[in-house]
Amino acid sequence: MLEIKNLRASLEEEGKEILKGLTLTVEAGKVHAIMGPNGSGKSTLSYVLAGRGGYEVTDGGATLEGRDILAMEPEERAAAGLFLAFQYPVEIPGVGNMTFLRTAVNAQRRTRGEEEMDAATFLKEVRARAKELKIDAEMLKRPVNMGFSGGEKKRNEILQMAMLEPRVCILDETDSGLDVDAMKLVADGVNAMRSPDRGFLVITHYQRLLDHIVPDVVHIMVDGRIIKTGGPELALEVEKNGYADLIEEAA
Ligand code: ADP
Ligand code: MG
Ligand code: MG
Repeated sequence: MLEIKNLRASLEEEGKEILKGLTLTVEAGKVHAIMGPNGSGKSTLSYVLAGRGGYEVTDGGATLEGRDILAMEPEERAAAGLFLAFQYPVEIPGVGNMTFLRTAVNAQRRTRGEEEMDAATFLKEVRARAKELKIDAEMLKRPVNMGFSGGEKKRNEILQMAMLEPRVCILDETDSGLDVDAMKLVADGVNAMRSPDRGFLVITHYQRLLDHIVPDVVHIMVDGRIIKTGGPELALEVEKNGYADLIEEAA
C-alpha cells in the first residue's frame, strides 16, 4: 500500500541530510508503528511524504498503491488517499471547522473526478462521526482548531481522517500532550477506522499509545533510518531499556 524505498532527504537551505536511506512498507490492513529518539527524523519523514516545502529528496522514493507520490502536488497526494495528522495541528482563524471539512472532502472528490457530497449527506455524516468522537456541535462551528485544547485538536484531526476515508493514515506523535482519556478517545477513533483496505503508520515517542493502538509491526528509527523491525514486543523493550542497546547493536 505504502512503499518507501531507500528514501534520502535533506533540508533545502542547509543541505543537511535528515533521512538517510529509509526503507519501509505498510501493507493494506496493517498498523505499523515508528518509534525513535527525538531528532531522528520522524516528523521529517511525514513532512516529506505530505509534500511540505523546505526538503529535497536526493534519492529513493515512495509509492502509494504503486503511484509515485513524491512526484505529486500535496493535494494530489491527499486525493490519492494519503492522510497525515501532524504533531502540531494548525489553527485557521476565520474558517469554520464545518466549512473546512466540507471543502476538504469535496476538493478531494473533485480531484478524484467524483461528484461532490451534497450538504444534507455531509451534515449527517459529520454529525455521526463527531458524536462517535465525543466532539460537540459547538466545536464544529468554531474556526478550525482556534482555542481548541490539545485533546480537542487531536480529536478534530481524527474527525478529518474519518471524513476523508484515506487509504494510508500517518499519525505523527498524535499522543503528545494528551491525557489518558483523550489518548484513548483518539486510539478508539483510529481503531474504528482499521480496515483490510487501509494502512496506518503511527509515529510515537512513547510506548503508551501502542497499548491502545496495538501495531502489527514496530520499527525503530534512529538518525534517519530504520535500525530494527519487530512485533509489538519491540515497543515494550524500548519502553523498558531505552534506545541505547538497540543503537549499539545496530552499530
Ligand atoms: P523527530 O520528529 O524524530 O523528533 P525531526 O524530523 O523533527 O525529528 O528532526 C530531525 C532533525 O532535523 C533534527 O535534528 C532537527 O533539528 C532537524 N530539522 C528538521 N526540520 C528542520 C528545519 N526546518 N530546520 C532546521 N533543522 C530541522
Ligand atoms: Mg521531535
Ligand atoms: Mg517529531
